[in-house]
Amino acid sequence: MKMIYDCLVIGAGIAGITASIYLKRGNKSSLMLDKGAPGGKLNNIHRIDNYPGLARIPGPDLALSLFNQASELGVEYAYGSVYEIRKEDNVFLVKTDAGDFNAKSLIIATGVENKKLGIPGEDKYLGKGVSYCATCDGPFFKGKDVALVGNADHAVEDAIYLSDIVNRLYFLYPEEIVATPSHIEELKTKNNVTWIPMDKSIAIEGHELVESFIYEDKDGQHKLDVNAVFPLYGEKSSTAFLSPLGVKGNKGFIETNANMESNVPGVFAAGDIVDKKLRQLVNAAGEGAIAATSVIGYLRELPKE
Ligand SMILES: Cc1cc2nc3c(=O)[nH]c(=O)nc-3n(C[C@H](O)[C@H](O)[C@H](O)COP(=O)(O)OP(=O)(O)OC[C@H]3O[C@@H](n4cnc5c(N)ncnc54)[C@H](O)[C@@H]3O)c2cc1C
Repeated sequence: MKMIYDCLVIGAGIAGITASIYLKRGNKSSLMLDKGAPGGKLNNIHRIDNYPGLARIPGPDLALSLFNQASELGVEYAYGSVYEIRKEDNVFLVKTDAGDFNAKSLIIATGVENKKLGIPGEDKYLGKGVSYCATCDGPFFKGKDVALVGNADHAVEDAIYLSDIVNRLYFLYPEEIVATPSHIEELKTKNNVTWIPMDKSIAIEGHELVESFIYEDKDGQHKLDVNAVFPLYGEKSSTAFLSPLGVKGNKGFIETNANMESNVPGVFAAGDIVDKKLRQLVNAAGEGAIAATSVIGYLRELPKE
């Protein structure tokens, strides 16, 4: 007979790993599934300045430390991209490209992805100069000119990182910059950064590799000669795989109560995927802990087989 886990944790970012640690310590059987590297977004963060007690820690170091902590406790982890979840005979059936899994409850911790600019050339040059991760790909553009489009904290943090590597960084902001003031001040000290307010991204052009970025402002269209474009403007999430369950959401984000419960009994959520205002490491970890604690309470109330 197929194993039925007490809980399946979908997503092994900081929210999912924290939830798994709490479940394990609560003596519940759980499996953490991820379609990428454990640590999630942490792997894309060059330097974290605001995680309590771990000043200036590189994201990949925190990812490794979290994953090691979970592994040492005996948390089960498997690769798998979840594409559908159904409920059959009071058990959740989770379908992934690496097989199906069964569980009595779920914690959804699948985070968010960067939004595309949606302009010609963006898909064509992905990996050939277009990148959504400065920490991962910035070093490929050492001494080159690059463009970054964005206006929030992630964009400003990545701009600081890139400015130490590239020759010239064009920082294009389609809207007012809404980032931590100390980050903006740090970026202002970099004399190889050109700040460009703009209205619209138009196209990314090149031959084999990216050669230019075209944007529009009130004076018309302009072309910047660059070797890379980092679109870091906005985030999106997808909960399409949850649709058979009828989980309530808002624009792809899951609505929860203070116990991280969704409207569907047995389905909990934590981290960036939750419909909320602040998307940071510290509350993602906290919500992972709350979700796991709520799962433990939920399991206690389930009728005994
Ligand atoms: C460049 C950048 C810098 C940042 N800097 C900071 C900072 O300095 N301080 C701070 O507090 N926060 C920062 N953040 C925000 C922080 O990274 C996030 O709030 C946090 O990592 C969210 O964690 P999470 O576990 O909710 O999601 P994630 O870390 O995104 O993890 C979600 C996981 O789910 C997996 N997944 C998604 N869909 C599926 C599926 N269908 N099947 C299986 N697995 C799936 C993904 O592969 C991923 O590993 C930064 C973010 C970015 C992008």
